[in-house]
Amino acid sequence: MKERVRMPKRPPEERIRSFEEVALGYTEEEAVREAKRCLQCKKAPCIQGCPVEVNIPEFIRLIAERKFISAWKVIKETNSLPGVCGRVCPQEMQCEKACVRGKKGEPVAIGALERFVADWEMKEGYAEKEISSPPRNKGKVAIVGSGPAGLSCAGELIRWGYKVTIFESLHEPGGVLRYGIPEFRLPRKVLDREISLLAKAGVEIITDCLIGKTYTLQDLSEMGYHAIFIGTGAGYPYFLNIPGETASGVYSANEFLTRTNLMKAYRFPEYDTPVEVGEKTGVVGGGNVAMDSARVALRLGSKEVWIIYRRTEKEMPARREEVENAKEEGIKFLLLTQPVEVLTEGGKIKGLKCIKMKLGEPDESGRRRPIPIENSQFTISLDTLVVAIGQGPNPLLPSTVPQLKIGEKGNIVVDEEGSTSIPGVYAGGDIVTGAATVIEAMGGGRKAAQAIHRFISSGKRFTGCYIISKR
Ligand code: FAD
Ligand code: SF4
Ligand code: SF4
Repeated sequence: MKERVRMPKRPPEERIRSFEEVALGYTEEEAVREAKRCLQCKKAPCIQGCPVEVNIPEFIRLIAERKFISAWKVIKETNSLPGVCGRVCPQEMQCEKACVRGKKGEPVAIGALERFVADWEMKEGYAEKEISSPPRNKGKVAIVGSGPAGLSCAGELIRWGYKVTIFESLHEPGGVLRYGIPEFRLPRKVLDREISLLAKAGVEIITDCLIGKTYTLQDLSEMGYHAIFIGTGAGYPYFLNIPGETASGVYSANEFLTRTNLMKAYRFPEYDTPVEVGEKTGVVGGGNVAMDSARVALRLGSKEVWIIYRRTEKEMPARREEVENAKEEGIKFLLLTQPVEVLTEGGKIKGLKCIKMKLGEPDESGRRRPIPIENSQFTISLDTLVVAIGQGPNPLLPSTVPQLKIGEKGNIVVDEEGSTSIPGVYAGGDIVTGAATVIEAMGGGRKAAQAIHRFISSGKRFTGCYIISKR
């Protein structure tokens, strides 16, 4: 009973050529056994570890009693996307980090249990019959961006009786959950299901609509929206800025993953948008985006895939679980290494010149600063390179609204309740924090929804703003 119940996974040799989900989820018996490990702590510090404050002991108690639908209802009170969060939340840094069980052993597998409940509901189709659209007469709210921040904000507001419209620039909703995180970590049927439940509850989603171009914030005011939430994310890729980086065969992770996940490159020729990968792929970076890119390259047919990272494995920001999965699948790690030049032939990448690094004192991120070692340059041969060194806030919408206060890194500046410098305009998620996590973005969306509710309930309205037109 003290041992955490392990979630079964597909074997590496089976999964490296498939986009099928790697982790297989608990059976009912496994979920009940794991739920019984929860100590039902009175103060429940795990709840404080969750940015949307899921009532963790309560939903776990209900699993232990086999009341799975009641458990799902408890989670849904504060979390619109339990199937997503159960899969991709960095639980080891959030709820599970705070779990009392973790002090003397392994924490309760809160994420795996949340996933179990969401999958159980999906299998039973319970919500289809139960969810109804409540009257929407409290006011009209426009949400810009359909990533986790926007979806979470919408989920809260619709429950409180607002008319909610999400405007999304891409042709499908979900943000990074759709175009960034690959199917083998987050199956699209799970995402589709959770978004469809929001739509069933009354959330209107308008795709192919770029706010800042198709409509401005001023247009939204004239269309009668009483408040606006901006959740446009951090989809602006950073580059290495080294010679040769524009060569053919060099991708930003953003392009590489979007072409694979959103445009279904891995199903070429059924979908006519292939991504070319060669025999040897290098991926620069050490976060989740880098791990996803490396594992995608392997599945697209690369024989040898390298993660190239300038610090050591200890400093890697990627989830431990995903680093382990990558290793099991045969991804190799070239650590304490910094690329300095892309080597090319006929305009195409043929290799990478790198320099060895050592670690110095901690920098502003708290991690030890990488320092180049003199005369340590070396080259590796590569025919594909994916640059996954981070993304910045999406600049398009903020650049059209001079009144909107912007931070040094291009992020939208908000106060503690998510309010921007324009009354009635709120923001949350990566556009505020810079690239972070799904659950932090959802926490930002939820907090802003509460502030929007207070704003509209007190009779206030967004009354428009000066716009620099981008049309
Ligand atoms: P996004 O998800 O970026 O959504 C923003 C949406 O706004 C997009 O759909 C975009 O098209 C739309 N948009 C932008 N501008 C406009 C406009 N002007 N008008 C209309 N729509 C607009 N986090 C985790 O917790 N766990 C993980 O395992 C994890 N893995 C990741 C893997 C990858 C490859 C990436 C890229 C990120 C990962 N993250 C992970 C981070 C996480 O996905 C993000 O922090 C989160 O998605 C941010 O949510 P958001 O709603 O703020 O923005
Ligand atoms: Fe933990 Fe994420 Fe679930 Fe919150 S939403 S309880 S952080 S898995
Ligand atoms: Fe259960 Fe851990 Fe939360 Fe205690 S801290 S209630 S053991 S999940």
